[in-house]
Amino acid sequence: MEKYVIHGADIISFDPAQPFLSGYALLVQDGIIARIAPFAELKDELCEFIDASGKIILPGLINAHHHFYSTLITGLGKAEPAQNFNEVLENLWWRLDKQLMARDIYISAVISAINAIRKGCTTIIDHHASPYHISGSLSEIARAVKDAGIRANLCYEVSDRDGSRRRDEGIEENLSFIKEHEHKADEHLRALFGLHAAFTLSDASLQKISPLVAETGCGIHIHAAEAQSDQKYNLEHFGKHVVERLQEFDLINSQSILAHGVHLTPKELMIVAEKGAAVVTNPQSNLNNAVGIADVCKMTELGVTVGLGTDAMTVNMLQELRVGLWAQHLKQNNPAAGFLELASTLLFNNPKIAQKYWDKGHGTLSEGAVADLILVDYDPHTPLNAETWIGHVIYGIAEAEVSATICAGDILMWDKEILIGIDERELRKESRALAKQLWERF
Ligand SMILES: [Zn+2]
Repeated sequence: MEKYVIHGADIISFDPAQPFLSGYALLVQDGIIARIAPFAELKDELCEFIDASGKIILPGLINAHHHFYSTLITGLGKAEPAQNFNEVLENLWWRLDKQLMARDIYISAVISAINAIRKGCTTIIDHHASPYHISGSLSEIARAVKDAGIRANLCYEVSDRDGSRRRDEGIEENLSFIKEHEHKADEHLRALFGLHAAFTLSDASLQKISPLVAETGCGIHIHAAEAQSDQKYNLEHFGKHVVERLQEFDLINSQSILAHGVHLTPKELMIVAEKGAAVVTNPQSNLNNAVGIADVCKMTELGVTVGLGTDAMTVNMLQELRVGLWAQHLKQNNPAAGFLELASTLLFNNPKIAQKYWDKGHGTLSEGAVADLILVDYDPHTPLNAETWIGHVIYGIAEAEVSATICAGDILMWDKEILIGIDERELRKESRALAKQLWERF
């Protein structure tokens, strides 16, 4: 379908200029939202009409920090119990990522993308690691993203942890993927320069990486102060906090994403704000790893754009938002604190972050924006309007089911049926077999 009108449903647009619209319809043409207008004005369009009565229309959701590669870990019981964050990395993630081969990487990404479609997520900013299969790994993920029909911003996490040869291969993987996508010809794919974390990168490595990142004009995507141990390591070895050290190598700019930021100091947050970089909070992951709760209220107060990611704990952004809000209440020791700050991470700031890489309007329903949108089965039992919509998103819509997911105007799921031309049952069967083999190698 190249042109169609969706009508009959209230629209929650995430566009601060007009966040809630009732009695309006959307005209989608060539992958773009060509018009948003009262239905009467669009009734005579020569195209297909989709009646969305009984549903709510929202933008396709954005996940601002994810790891496709962790998909095949679900249910694995073999990891040694971890007593702290570094043991989580050593006992689980740094054992898993070494085992990933090309097919594992593709299957992990395509399954995770399909799961995301089911939860209404159409854009994913991913951070990849597969130190024994680095070259070409981002192309495997890119192929999965294209097959699923969603959008993704990809990077490879450069690290010293597996020696200088693999560090350099990681650098090359970022550079070649960035080069391939620097002209933004493919609307589905974007690139950042991935770094694992400051505590796995020496000064010599940062020195080497800094001019290369500058040359690309890209930002970095890095884990920053996820656990206190990151700060401790950087202070002990380099006499600097994480952001101060990255800043020393000129590695923070307006395109950069600092994931987590749980233990960033106010001074570091002010550097992040001044540079126009984003912190992406991942509350469920932080709770699961017992590393702390990011002070999103403080970050917001200091002028930092705080986005929301899942760190691969889930692909369900609305669930992440709910848990993030409860966690922030606990952090502030005040059930009234943080409502707007947390809501803004997903509803307003993730679109702002995505718009740095894609076009204006990405992540919102506005005229000229890409036609990434979802329909949610939601017939509100209390008044839904311009004053109440955020509360409905968190306390009502987040619990409802996504029935349709559309990306670039293409219908990826309709009536909860995935329509991307992939035999999902066969894919999941292969995924189980690959996971079994992976677990045996683990
Ligand atoms: Zn992460």
